Amino acid sequence: MSDATLAVPLDRPEVPDTLPLLPVRDIVVFPNMVVPLFVGRESSIHAVRFAMEHSRLVMLASQKVSSTESPQPSEIYTTGTIATVMRMITLSDGRIKLLLQGMVKAKIVSYLQSVPFYTVRLQKWDEPKVTLPDIELHALIRLVRGQIERIISFGRFPVTKAIPVIEHMEDPSRLSDLIAQHLGLTMEAAQDLLETVDPVARLKKVSSFMAKEIDILTMQQEIQVEAKGEIDKSQREYFLREQMKAIQKELNDGDERSLESKEFREKIAAASMPKKVEEEAEKQVKRMEKMHPDSAETANIRTYLEWLIEMPWSKETQDKLDLALAEKVLNEDHYGLDKVKERIVEYLAVCSIKKTMKGPILCFVGPPGVGKTSLGRSIARAMGREFVLVSLGGVHDEAEIRGHRRTYIGALPGRIIQGIKQAGTKNPIFMLDEIDKVGTDFRGDPSSALLEVLDPKQNHAFSDHYLGLPFDLSKVMFITTANQIDPIPTPLKDRMEIIHLSGYTLEEKVAIARQFLIPQQMAEHGVLPAQVRFDNAGIRKIIAHYTREAGVRNLEREIAHIMRKTARKIVEGALGRQVITGANVGNFLGTSKFQPEAAVEKDTVGIATGLAWTPTGGDIIRVEATMMRGKGGLSLTGNLGDVMKESAQAALSYIRSNEKALGISPNPFSENDIHIHVPSGAIPKDGPSAGITMATALASLLTGVPVRRDVAMTGEVTLRGRVLQIGGLKEKVLAAKRAGMKIIVLPKQNEKDLDEIPPHVQKGLKFVFANDMSDVLTAASRQSGFKATPRRHSGRL
Ligand code: ADP
Repeated sequence: MSDATLAVPLDRPEVPDTLPLLPVRDIVVFPNMVVPLFVGRESSIHAVRFAMEHSRLVMLASQKVSSTESPQPSEIYTTGTIATVMRMITLSDGRIKLLLQGMVKAKIVSYLQSVPFYTVRLQKWDEPKVTLPDIELHALIRLVRGQIERIISFGRFPVTKAIPVIEHMEDPSRLSDLIAQHLGLTMEAAQDLLETVDPVARLKKVSSFMAKEIDILTMQQEIQVEAKGEIDKSQREYFLREQMKAIQKELNDGDERSLESKEFREKIAAASMPKKVEEEAEKQVKRMEKMHPDSAETANIRTYLEWLIEMPWSKETQDKLDLALAEKVLNEDHYGLDKVKERIVEYLAVCSIKKTMKGPILCFVGPPGVGKTSLGRSIARAMGREFVLVSLGGVHDEAEIRGHRRTYIGALPGRIIQGIKQAGTKNPIFMLDEIDKVGTDFRGDPSSALLEVLDPKQNHAFSDHYLGLPFDLSKVMFITTANQIDPIPTPLKDRMEIIHLSGYTLEEKVAIARQFLIPQQMAEHGVLPAQVRFDNAGIRKIIAHYTREAGVRNLEREIAHIMRKTARKIVEGALGRQVITGANVGNFLGTSKFQPEAAVEKDTVGIATGLAWTPTGGDIIRVEATMMRGKGGLSLTGNLGDVMKESAQAALSYIRSNEKALGISPNPFSENDIHIHVPSGAIPKDGPSAGITMATALASLLTGVPVRRDVAMTGEVTLRGRVLQIGGLKEKVLAAKRAGMKIIVLPKQNEKDLDEIPPHVQKGLKFVFANDMSDVLTAASRQSGFKATPRRHSGRL
């Protein structure tokens, strides 16, 4: 709206009575109002064109329902406004855009024409005179102005240019029309205003509309403020609550922290630590208090403190040094092993006199399953000490013995300290299993750490990297075990007293099974003696056909197996006592796993029986030699190690250098190849002790004299034919006995060791102690020595 618009005179006497009608939708046009209109309806376009050709005047009247496309006269309000077309533009789509200005109000009296557009007869509006006393009118106008200001203050009155006009307008009629245009009234309300004749009444209506509007705006604002206040309030509350939470957490944490430190302090006090340790522990508690409770470092300190607290710094058991009791316990738990038991009792005797445990460390050496560990347990039981077993098998890293420094992630103490903690006392029987399996590599040497552990001069202050504080190991009684002595580093070996435990004979195993394993397994499986019985043939069959070992570990397992089956049968309602016999063992254990080592069926040329020591006990080995045309080569097969190969070479050299004595012509060596094979090729074999066996097989091959099938032999051979000492005598003898051998040829130097072999094992065996090969060969042939006869020899080739 422009000021110019407002300046158009209200009254124009030349307005004609008849005008084309333009029905308008959604708007009520007031006098003096300038409105743009789009005209699209055919009839309206005609009306506009008509007007343009004549007076440019049209009658504008609002449709009652704006959606009606072609309103009937009854659907059009009768009161409207005559307007001048100020501008007309025809749009490209045929529609017309008009700019109109309202002139005066008029009333449709009648419709004169309806096609092509409505033409109406009009009656002009006579504006009545204002009858209100000036003062009241003034008051009303002032009120209205005030209201406008209010509305403007809400930012709701858009026509800013109208404001100065309104401020000076005194005519209630124009004032109300002007304001009405901008109030955003509904069609009905606007039409009602238009039709209100009395200007004062109209202004009052406008005023009451404005009052309502102001109420609404005020309320809206209040709601807004309130809503904002609500949000502010809830935000504030949220912040406060958060703050409170933080404070509470802090307070609680503080409480928890102090509770935690208190608990730690109490535990430290109760742990009766040495003074130095206690000081360190207190230092750590203090450090912890200063740290965030959830930090990783705090967690580390906590774990460390727990270790310090749980270590048995001064917890000890009282030793029972009653020798009779010790003997009784050892006998209760173990069959045989008399020498070992005797040695243990002696050891305890010395300890009880000296009142210290600073004797040498015992080292039980022997194949698996011979009772090394269980002896350790018995000693602990006899002395009333705790028992811990720590396996050193496969330990390569010094840190496994001594722990990692706490700066490492996930650091822990080494196995020694862990074992002590597990024992819960500072004087347990500490068994270090498989000390021969400790390896050395780039991660440091575990055996040097072990030296410190085992050395009575040093171990009163053993330092574990994790604990970082010395722990007194001097009251611990260490016992080590090994399968073999050789791999144990010498400095360690020197600190230990080696006690050998060899394998058991069949009879010993039967006795162990009967007296120990079967009753133990029965108790373990809840089977009563009245429910199961083993006869001797049954036990023997288990030993011979289901186990091949020096000890009794697998025997124990097979017996357990039978117990499980028996228990099941009992539960399933089997009546009577189950008797395990040689004939029915298969029903429990399935087909046999091993065939007993059988002797060769007959004396054979080129096959000699040797004896080997293996970590699992002794075994017999067959050495086969054969000869074929060739150029004097020697092939060796059967997965032999270097030492064994060299020993084969030595054996061959011995035979070659003695060909005369043996009656062998030189030809075989230059014209033939010799092949020595040791069956069970998958099993690696090494060591020099098969030397005399290989020499015997070669001598037999080259002389054609068969080797006695019931002779087994072991010994190293020199180039000159001397027979040298070997180890593992008891295992080898046991293996020979198991295999049904009658004569055992051993190096003379081993004669002294025969004591080791119990009389019942020796029974039925003939021992031959050989100084050199001739003794061996004499024993190995039925014709007192190997001597080739020309006939035999040529016959073979
Ligand atoms: P190792 O430590 O030598 O490998 P273990 O001590 O583990 O062998 O022995 C295996 C099982 O055999 C244990 O149940 C043990 O009680 C039993 N055992 C071994 N030797 C005997 C024995 N002489 N008398 C009774 N039981 C034995």
